[in-house]
Amino acid sequence: MRGKFVFHADDGTQEDVTEGVQALYDLVIGSMDWGSGFWSYEDALPVANIAQLAGFDQCGEAERYVKEALFEKESAEWKAKQPPSTRYTDAAYQPLSHDHVFSVSGKCMWPRCGAKNYE
Ligand SMILES: [Zn+2]
Repeated sequence: MRGKFVFHADDGTQEDVTEGVQALYDLVIGSMDWGSGFWSYEDALPVANIAQLAGFDQCGEAERYVKEALFEKESAEWKAKQPPSTRYTDAAYQPLSHDHVFSVSGKCMWPRCGAKNYE
């Protein structure tokens, strides 16, 4: 999708601010924080939404980031609900045999498993 961002002022005037939004988006995507996992799912979602709305470059990258952030959030929440004594991996850090527990984002939340229910 392609589109533009228009600012609607209280006095009824309008101004196309797409370039400004694009500049902010480029700053975010280009920042160290974006790729570091520092942004939470809630932080990253509006950025990905803006990219998708306007068809900005790297909107696929933004979506991947959001999907990964959602997975991290869900798997942390899931793991917090498991008994503290739960063992997930063997001595070689391979996942123990288990039934996959897929997050909304489609990846198994079992540590080090990596199974997906998509693609
Ligand atoms: Zn699994």
